[in-house]
Amino acid sequence: MSGKTLILGIESTAHTFGVAIIDENFTVLADERSTLDVPLGSGIHPQKAAEHHAQNACRLITSALKKANISPDKLSGIAYSAGPGLGPALRVGATTARALSLLFKKPIYAIHHAIGHIELAIKLTKSTDPLVVLVSGGHTAITAFSDGKWRIYGETLDITLGNLIDQFARELGLPFPGGPHVESLAKKSQNYIPLPYTVKGNNVMYSGLLTHVISLASKHKLEDLCYSLQETAFSMLVEAVERALVQLDKKEIVLTGGVASNSRLQEMLSQMAEIHGVKVLVSPKKYNPDNGVQIAIVGLYLHKHNLSVPVEKAIVKQRWRLDEVDIPWRM
Ligand code: AMP
Ligand code: MG
Repeated sequence: MSGKTLILGIESTAHTFGVAIIDENFTVLADERSTLDVPLGSGIHPQKAAEHHAQNACRLITSALKKANISPDKLSGIAYSAGPGLGPALRVGATTARALSLLFKKPIYAIHHAIGHIELAIKLTKSTDPLVVLVSGGHTAITAFSDGKWRIYGETLDITLGNLIDQFARELGLPFPGGPHVESLAKKSQNYIPLPYTVKGNNVMYSGLLTHVISLASKHKLEDLCYSLQETAFSMLVEAVERALVQLDKKEIVLTGGVASNSRLQEMLSQMAEIHGVKVLVSPKKYNPDNGVQIAIVGLYLHKHNLSVPVEKAIVKQRWRLDEVDIPWRM
């Protein structure tokens, strides 16, 4: 085992505490996760997420090391999600990472969570120069790599697509996360109820749609509302993606983030892409939601470029745009 590069990645931006260990060949040696139980009618409470993460951190790290069959002194570096995300939840991951870094004298890498989603999806789909559509609880972004950074070519101007679905689900009494429940109910309907549709250039806005669809709750069947919400929200996104696609002339779209698991979204995006002779690649379902592997992979890239941070600067950034991050491994 000695001499091998081994990176431990810690994810803690929101509901999930994830710990993964990967090697320099991107082999996943361990991928441990625990997700906060959110009571019906509630959302992710930042303090509750932090408590969940603190209660599970030690167990998951121990279990990841055991599964990878390595001792901590064999690790080459510790990567943690530094943001964006919920402050209290992020701080548990950062504190855990700093403790491991100091205890075992390992370099520490501060990772942007969305860059993790993007880079892992590209690796898993073997894409080379894609337009990336990242749709999750924290992000709705249409992005492509250019001149050292992942540039934004379209995004939400208010709430994210994941948030839209989760908040709708919560108001209508569905469990968290709402996405899979809304998807399966939507499959039972083809009755479209007209809803507000707001696309501004390459950008989308979902808050008006959310308010309106909630106001219809007592007047329509739940499956009709789920169906109409999906059709409207996904059409808006697909329109914005199409505009960016034509502007950039990309040949591949990579779809990632928790909402990427939705089969109707995949279908709608693929139908649009086919018209342009473009392929849609979706990362394996297991890697769409938050996980430690997405953090470890970016950690590995930073490790190869010697871009660790001093441990006293290994802090969190609750707000951190993905187009602020330098991407030296793609230069
Ligand atoms: P992430 O923030 O990347 O962990 O993704 C979580 C988000 O993905 C939540 O908003 C979920 O509701 C959403 N999600 C998960 N599965 C689905 C699905 N099948 N359809 C739509 N959204 C989904
Ligand atoms: Mg995420």
